[in-house]
Amino acid sequence: MPGPHGPPKNWKSGPIFAKAPRMSEEFERPVLTPPGGEKKVLLHSCCAPCSGEVMEAMLASGVEYTIFFYNPNIHPKREYLLRKDENVRFAEKHGVPFVDADYDRDNWFARAKGMEHEPERGIRCTMCFDMRFERTALYAHENGFPVMTSSLGISRWKNMKQINDCGVRAAAPYEGLSYWDYNWRKGGGSARMIEISKREEFYQQEYCGCVYSLRDTNEHRVSTGRERIVLGQNYYGKDTVSE
Ligand code: SF4
Repeated sequence: MPGPHGPPKNWKSGPIFAKAPRMSEEFERPVLTPPGGEKKVLLHSCCAPCSGEVMEAMLASGVEYTIFFYNPNIHPKREYLLRKDENVRFAEKHGVPFVDADYDRDNWFARAKGMEHEPERGIRCTMCFDMRFERTALYAHENGFPVMTSSLGISRWKNMKQINDCGVRAAAPYEGLSYWDYNWRKGGGSARMIEISKREEFYQQEYCGCVYSLRDTNEHRVSTGRERIVLGQNYYGKDTVSE
């Protein structure tokens, strides 16, 4: 497992509102305070579009954080690398440490066995969040992070309670570790997520991530007369994007 890329830079805090540093457009956001007033956070990131706003919001509030990329659910590997590389690119732009926890695909498929036909937001997704957060919590425990959180909940396609329950469950075995269940959508977070994605021209994935969500999304698209998903095609802020 490669280590962090380097120390974060330009962290600062403000009394009421904070502005993200080094941005061409500036956003005003409430100042964030992690649980217990802690400043050191491990951020589980699922992709660049979802984590862009979370990253800039924490930077603007002076929260010291490291990105933890562990997403063995993403299929196929080409899509996994597209999503990861976008996240690395944005982390490097901000000087944020990035931990690449590698592509643990075989273990994901082993845990998903028997859940191949479960719907999104069902028990397969609970397993998927549990697995990703368990590894995040272990890394947090072993590396002195008192708080962990995730970008997963910012997506309007996700069930935030399901995600938060998984996060709390993963952190529970470790004394002194808490899961930060902040609602990243509120206060304009959802809109900023799209604005940042367009500004950065992030790769836009068109399905949740696993092979089963790819299958089901394609089936839905074909049944409604749309083309099947083409990997690596859509980028925010470019003509091919469909929102
Ligand atoms: S649909 Fe998404 S959250 Fe659910 S199992 Fe697949 S990749 Fe994981």
